[in-house]
Amino acid sequence: MQVEIIQQTGLRTRPFLVTPLLETLQPVIDANRDSVLLTDAGMRVVAANTAAQSAFGRGGYPLAGRRLSEIIRDLDLHEAFRRAIANQAAEEVRIELVGASRRFYTVYVAPIELDGKQFAIGTFYDTTQIERLERVRQEFLSNISHELRTPLTSILAFVETLEDGAIDDKENNRRFLTTIRRNAERMHALIADILELSFIESGNVSIEVKQVRVANVVEEVFAVLSSKAAEREIGLINDIPENARVFADPMRLEQMLTNLIDNAIKFNRPAGTVTVSLSSTETADLISVADTGEGLLEGHAQRIFERFYRVDRGRTRDIGGTGLGLAIVKHLSRLHGGEITVRSDLGKGTVFTIELPRRNAATEETSFASQ
Ligand code: ADP
Repeated sequence: MQVEIIQQTGLRTRPFLVTPLLETLQPVIDANRDSVLLTDAGMRVVAANTAAQSAFGRGGYPLAGRRLSEIIRDLDLHEAFRRAIANQAAEEVRIELVGASRRFYTVYVAPIELDGKQFAIGTFYDTTQIERLERVRQEFLSNISHELRTPLTSILAFVETLEDGAIDDKENNRRFLTTIRRNAERMHALIADILELSFIESGNVSIEVKQVRVANVVEEVFAVLSSKAAEREIGLINDIPENARVFADPMRLEQMLTNLIDNAIKFNRPAGTVTVSLSSTETADLISVADTGEGLLEGHAQRIFERFYRVDRGRTRDIGGTGLGLAIVKHLSRLHGGEITVRSDLGKGTVFTIELPRRNAATEETSFASQ
């Protein structure tokens, strides 16, 4: 059996054994996009593929020749490599690496004999993205449960109060019923938004883009929301030229504007204004909804498009809303090939802008699906 001793150059690498078979194997492990490390019985890395080199080779030092514990400081991983050789059995270990960013791996470690020598080979399956999605899923579920439980608890409490005799209390029974209805409506709105969002995210929504007179759509939205605006003496201003057109799905554009204008009324100061205007660049039409409310801090502005993110949970619960409206607007604008952005001046107001790509009127009346 022929065994070569290779002296690696570079800091902290020492002589280590390389069998001819190992050299032959190198291109095979290099073709693997998961990281692969091979150690000898002394826990020294004798081969690393290109993926491992770029994932774990900080500073570009070759991994081969270094101790496994110098490359990845994880006792469970170290033990798995050691046991694989000692017990001649494969095993799986889950590790978490904390560096510039947190990464998770499931590592499959197996014994391997090359040219009569014992080695352990570990394949690192990067599960960071899966773990992230799982966290998002769990957060979403716990948010939904929390958001549904609050109105439900209130409904149950008021029903019990009525059952316990308040039904005959002429002064309060109607008030209790109104509260029950309001909470039931909140649950209804929440479920509708959750379904809508999951429908869009699952790729089942398609949009039919055509030329739309924006001013008309804005008028329709204003008509629906006018009593809500009047309650707080908010002025609604449609600043869009009557004949201006954009390319959009009319129903979806109305849905986006309803969400934005509804928010602009809700989060405005009493007797403030909501102004909808249109501008364009060479490539896009920009519809802006500007309010004169208290505005948003930068940290909040970056996060309000996340599902259930609200600046002031307690307050938004009182004024209504599901915390999903802006997430829906974000998805719908992206479905149009566009984007939604926000600019805010603390104490002065907030401007949301829907950016829609400009298209050629002669050639483009198109449908898009959400995936
Ligand atoms: P909600 O149902 O709570 O309105 P949205 O997704 O529409 O849910 O909005 C998320 C959060 O973003 C709101 O709870 C509020 O804190 C903030 N927000 C939205 N629009 C405005 C606005 N025009 N001015 C200030 N804050 C806003």
